[in-house]
Amino acid sequence: MIRANENYRKLKASYLFSDIARRVDRFQKEHPDIRVIRLGIGDVTRALPPAVVTAFHKGVDDMAEDATFRGYGPEQGYLFLREKIAAHDFQARGADIAADEIFVSDGAKCDTGNFQELFAKDIRIAIPDPVYPVYLDTNVMAGRTGKFVEGRYENIVYLDCVKENRFLPRLPETPVDLIYLCFPNNPTGTCATKKELTQWVAYARQNKALILFDAAYESFIRDDALPRTIYEIEGAREVAVEFRSFSKTAGFTGTRCGFTVVPKECRVFLSNGESASLHGLWNRRQSTKFNGVSYPVQKAAEAVYTSEGQAQIRELVAGYLENADIIRKTMADLGFDHVGGDNSPYIWVDGQGRDSWEFFDLLLHNAGVVCTPGGGFGRCGNPYIRISAFNSRSNVMEAMDRLKEALK
Ligand SMILES: *Cc1c(COP(=O)(O)O)cnc(C)c1O
Repeated sequence: MIRANENYRKLKASYLFSDIARRVDRFQKEHPDIRVIRLGIGDVTRALPPAVVTAFHKGVDDMAEDATFRGYGPEQGYLFLREKIAAHDFQARGADIAADEIFVSDGAKCDTGNFQELFAKDIRIAIPDPVYPVYLDTNVMAGRTGKFVEGRYENIVYLDCVKENRFLPRLPETPVDLIYLCFPNNPTGTCATKKELTQWVAYARQNKALILFDAAYESFIRDDALPRTIYEIEGAREVAVEFRSFSKTAGFTGTRCGFTVVPKECRVFLSNGESASLHGLWNRRQSTKFNGVSYPVQKAAEAVYTSEGQAQIRELVAGYLENADIIRKTMADLGFDHVGGDNSPYIWVDGQGRDSWEFFDLLLHNAGVVCTPGGGFGRCGNPYIRISAFNSRSNVMEAMDRLKEALK
């Protein structure tokens, strides 16, 4: 008898974005004349930058000739890409990361989801609330949590991100071994300062814990004082893994490329008192279960680091950030408290006493605008909605005009 992994039964029955799609479909059927504007799901809308497209084509041409054809590549990624990443994203910012500490992958969702495989089943895990659901759900699937009770899984230490702490997680009161952090944050759009990250690194060092740091939105940081990578913090090489993605930075959500940094100093501890290299474990995991990202895609990602590529992605990100500015200004004019959007494509809006689904329905029915209900990201998200800046300028402007009418 083939038995199921019953941990899957603990997962909340419905997925946030399918709930949203159902409500939008129903609304659209009832109101076929209204053009719905989607500021909900966090997907980019603008095309790949021209420098990336040219390199992508060139990569395909290489595959068309025996002389330049590539078969299986290194599981960790081609050195041409890993060297550019190390030099540009880390060494240029004073962060001491080498090319062989970078593992190229098909995106940060897979890596943030898969990384928990390296740890024991009974570790104590801290997860912010609200949160990108992947961190939590993959630990549920692995059997690290208990039942789902009153909006929370047993055996998880939740780090409440609320108005009182400016939506930034505080150090846990009970000891933990694994900590998930994401800055700039999805969904709140907030960003931790160097001082705040320094506290987390110190905590991890004191407790022999590990930080999994998701920096998928790093390219949206405008404030030069904010850390772009956790490795700007002294000591982070011993206690932090960083996840990055070309998805939001360079429009790769459908092309698929990202990478994970595992410094050689990170250790995991064994029951016999010894320790092992985390880099070695992740390398073993990837070599066994992953066969690398396609060559043309890695050539396309490499082009992000050319001077044209850099100028083009700066322009792309600036366009989304200007959308975010328009959304923030509208929320301010309408008198809604909000955070995010200054170093992030997401604006986290206080519903002024409304529950997040109630606020969602209000925007959908009165303005034909789709947002994301904060409750889908965790219990602390219930009084909020997330508005995304990923759309065309004209759609964002029209959506904001409609909100001004609907909410005045
Ligand atoms: C979009 C996103 C990612 C990136 O996912 P990919 O798999 O690289 O497309 C990672 N983390 C967060 C928090 C995200 O919002």
